[in-house]
This record gives sequence, C-alpha cells and structure tokens, in this order.
Amino acid sequence: MHRSTFDGQSIREVWAVGSRSVGGQMYTVDVCRDAAGVESLCDCQAALTDRICWHRCAAREASAGRLPCHNPTGSRMHPQRRPAAPAPAVLPTIGGKPVTQAMLTGKVRRSA
Ligand SMILES: [Zn+2]
Repeated sequence: MHRSTFDGQSIREVWAVGSRSVGGQMYTVDVCRDAAGVESLCDCQAALTDRICWHRCAAREASAGRLPCHNPTGSRMHPQRRPAAPAPAVLPTIGGKPVTQAMLTGKVRRSA
C-alpha cells in the first residue's frame, strides 16, 4: 500500500501491485470504500479496456486483510490467522465409553 486517506466519508487507498507476466512492472490500484461499497481502479491494460484484472482483486483482498502486503511505512502485514477450531466439548463414545484423545491418536498403552 502506498498511502491511505480518509476524507470523512470514504477511505481511499492507493496500492502498488506487481505484474505477474511482466517482471518489475507495477500497477497502481486505487481502492475507494464508502457507504456505497468498494470501488477500484487499475492502470493496467486489462482494466483500461474494461476487463477484469487481478490487480484490483489483489488490492481488495489485501485491503480487507486477507493477503500479506506492505503498509504505507513499508512494514510487512500478514493476514490475521484464524484461531484453531475449539476441540469438541463432547467426545464421541464407543460402546458407552468416551473416546479419549489417546485412543484417537493411537497412543494407548496396554498393560500386559
Ligand atoms: Zn490491473
């Protein structure tokens, strides 16, 4: 992200997105979010001819925190990791006996 500005009604972000096909080529994507939703502009060839381009998609995803990116000061930002799903409160049972974690992982020691 190059910069982010807030004018009271909308947030405008300017992103630099690297080209997949042309090494070193960067495109500028302008993402504007306001009460009406999200709009984006890109200066690549596809967007200029009204086709969908992935740069805008990438900028939107990064803007929403779903892609790693650089913030305006150049620090790396990572998507927030989803917390692991909590273990089920009720373990399955076999023949009325609760299945223990050790049984599920096969680490049951049997006494001889
Ligand atoms: Zn584009």
